[in-house]
Amino acid sequence: MQRVHRFRVWPDVSLSLLEQLRSLTLRTRPLSTLSILIFLLSVPALSAASELEDCELLLRTGQYQACIQTSAVAIEMKAYGSEWPLVKAQAELALGQYAEAQQTVDAGLKRYSWSLPLRYLAWQIYHLNNEHEAADVLLASIHELASRSAWRYTDSDSLVALGQASLLRGMDPGEVLETFYDRAIQEYPDQREAWLASGNLALDKHDFALASETFAAGLKQVPNDPDLLFGLSQALQRSDPQRAATLAAEVLKINPYHLPSRMAEIARLIDSEEYATAKIQLDQVLAINPHLASAWASLAAIAHFENRPFDETAYYQEALSHHDHDPRVDYLIGKILSEHYRFAEGATYQKQALEKDLKFLPARIQLAQDQLRLGQEVSGWEHALQAHAQDGYDTTTFNLLELKDQLARFKTLEDESFIIRMEAREADIYGQQVKTLLHQARKTLCQKYGLQLDQKITVEIFPDPDDFAVRTFGMPAVSGYLGVCFGKVITANSPASQADHPTSWESVLWHEFCHVVTLELTSNKMPRWISEGISVYEERQKNPYWGEAMIPQYRELILKGETTPISQLSSAFMNPKSSLHIQFAYFQSSMVVEYLVQNFGLETIREILGDLQAGVPINVAIERRTKTLGELEEEYAVWLKAQADRFAPRADWSEQDLRPLLSDDTKRFDDWVREHPNHFRGLMAYASILAEENRVSELETTLKKLVEIYPEYTGADNASLQLAQLYQKQKRFDEEQQLLEQHAHINPNALDVFQRLIERYQEQENWSAVYQTVRKAHAVNPLNQETQQALATACIKLDRRQEAIQAYQAILALEPHNKAEAHYQLARLLQKENQQQAKRHTLIALEQAPRFRAAHLLLLELTTDTP
Ligand SMILES: [Zn+2]
Repeated sequence: MQRVHRFRVWPDVSLSLLEQLRSLTLRTRPLSTLSILIFLLSVPALSAASELEDCELLLRTGQYQACIQTSAVAIEMKAYGSEWPLVKAQAELALGQYAEAQQTVDAGLKRYSWSLPLRYLAWQIYHLNNEHEAADVLLASIHELASRSAWRYTDSDSLVALGQASLLRGMDPGEVLETFYDRAIQEYPDQREAWLASGNLALDKHDFALASETFAAGLKQVPNDPDLLFGLSQALQRSDPQRAATLAAEVLKINPYHLPSRMAEIARLIDSEEYATAKIQLDQVLAINPHLASAWASLAAIAHFENRPFDETAYYQEALSHHDHDPRVDYLIGKILSEHYRFAEGATYQKQALEKDLKFLPARIQLAQDQLRLGQEVSGWEHALQAHAQDGYDTTTFNLLELKDQLARFKTLEDESFIIRMEAREADIYGQQVKTLLHQARKTLCQKYGLQLDQKITVEIFPDPDDFAVRTFGMPAVSGYLGVCFGKVITANSPASQADHPTSWESVLWHEFCHVVTLELTSNKMPRWISEGISVYEERQKNPYWGEAMIPQYRELILKGETTPISQLSSAFMNPKSSLHIQFAYFQSSMVVEYLVQNFGLETIREILGDLQAGVPINVAIERRTKTLGELEEEYAVWLKAQADRFAPRADWSEQDLRPLLSDDTKRFDDWVREHPNHFRGLMAYASILAEENRVSELETTLKKLVEIYPEYTGADNASLQLAQLYQKQKRFDEEQQLLEQHAHINPNALDVFQRLIERYQEQENWSAVYQTVRKAHAVNPLNQETQQALATACIKLDRRQEAIQAYQAILALEPHNKAEAHYQLARLLQKENQQQAKRHTLIALEQAPRFRAAHLLLLELTTDTP
């Protein structure tokens, strides 16, 4: 049980007062010489407003000890103002001097018993001294005082205190905003507290847009306020992470001891699984405030990840030692666990939080999310509804319940292994294919990794990316994900929402189902990298062209030494420099897995997963099952470098400065190409110039060369497709087709290529090729009438009647222009086995097109046939 006792290191204590003042002057704004003199001489007359301002500045800039001393002198000298004890107690709170803070507010309330802000602060402080009943009395007294003499409490700070107390008593947040905060802002726009309270309320309700507006407006009135800056940084975390980081850095420049900022940074480190660094920073935070509950709670969460249950309990108890009713401790630990996919343990903590305070909304919302991710839908939705009933202002629950309505309209395909939810139309079109693929994944991957899966897996596929984001992340407008797996629940975006970047939904579901297997095997105790690594690796096992493969950019990153060490790979997924870097993180992880499988066998991966399940940290597990991490890192680096060196060996990848070649003088480029006939990037640039200048035959030669030296290139600007287009224009269709066929083979996402090939095969009446290619197209996007029609025709020709029926049903679901024709074709296909239905479709066809001659004949035939 280490780390429970610690020494206080408080840097300011060792500084002389003069030094403190000097550093303050440097960091913030200059103090008047007079005020420094007054301070140093400790003479009275501190009651002047400017002195109070200076003291508040000490508080805002983190000079807590100096702030306490200054305010203590002022209080001693009987300087008038309820702000003095307020400021002093806040500084004491920041340092974890909870008992002293209580003495300060007690003394303050003796003199300023009417002060609501002091009472509100006292309420917080009493709880932090485990005096909950006295705290409740204080809270109640705020309203008693206000109702007795409302006229007295129209200043900004009193309005804010009243608002905060009203929230605690369950007043509607919207009403609090209007009645107290907005009023305070309108009448006293230069006072920070109302901006802060208003912004924080929006943050609490997950209304980030409103929060950022409020904080930004507040900062115009009160520039450089560290708490407002911090609020803005929090509000921008998702929409503008870069700006959020800059703001956070600004806060720490103004106040290096700003605990909420320090804790936000620590949260980021924990998110990236950088536990060692997080622990060092937590030590520093606890040196500022040795009793900070959130710091102890974070240590408890890390201990949980590191499988140190005794430490976890000790830290947990430490976190609760000053406020044993505090639901935020359980909430925070649970939330961190859930962020690492430990939903079951997270949910247990949220239940404990609710035991401490039944009305603690964040815990209920988190519990709802956890249970929905665990597939415990009945109670998950119940908690969401309860949270919404308690507070209709929270955007997370509001969005969740909107989604619930949406899901109610979905179709469910359920069998012994899966519960698949899809939009009704999509379910009709490709629900069966989804089912087939998932069963295949289940059979292959469960067997391979030795998993006995006895529970049903829920798979939800959303045509609306916002619905997907709300279901997955609890908020709309999160892009960049095709699918997510929580363990027993998979969510995915449907082809309807990926028009610009077609991606095989089959590969997405295969990848996500692989997560099901590995998360199940480890009880979700997996670092992100190995989870992603195995899923991408398994994509490639299923289809060598699924999953991430080496591309020129990865080659370059590897050869430049920009790979992340195995031991830190999970951090590569957090705060990536660009979208390329996050893709690279997936690629690197999958290559580690490939390397481990190649050198130590799949059995080793299974053993590592078993170790993880038992709570062994990943690096220990790897060392135990392979060799020392140092050796492994070294050998892996050599192996990966060899892969990069071997990549597209016919192409010249040398570093060349192409910029001077892009001038008007094309002759220079011509000469350069002669000297560098295989330079991939050079040839790519050269080809675009040739295309611009319409030098067709040279363009053809260059594109051919490009295809020859790096045929696997599937980037949007790839030479194969450019050349195919050229051939198409020149009506050299056979050559076009040959190129497209090569490309179709290596690029499972090339929807345009599949569609063009289908066109060609139909002209050639090559029905089995049509059939094969449509299947490839539908693995990317089955929501297409033309390819469904091609499939129907091919199936009729190939005597695949059942599939032809399905294709026509899909066409009807897609609302075709000529519905009558589709109904007629369906009727003909059903004629032999189901006359009743065939007749129905014929009648519908005739209803749509009363002069449809073929349909009349069919109806006649059907009526005569009927006994
Ligand atoms: Zn994944």
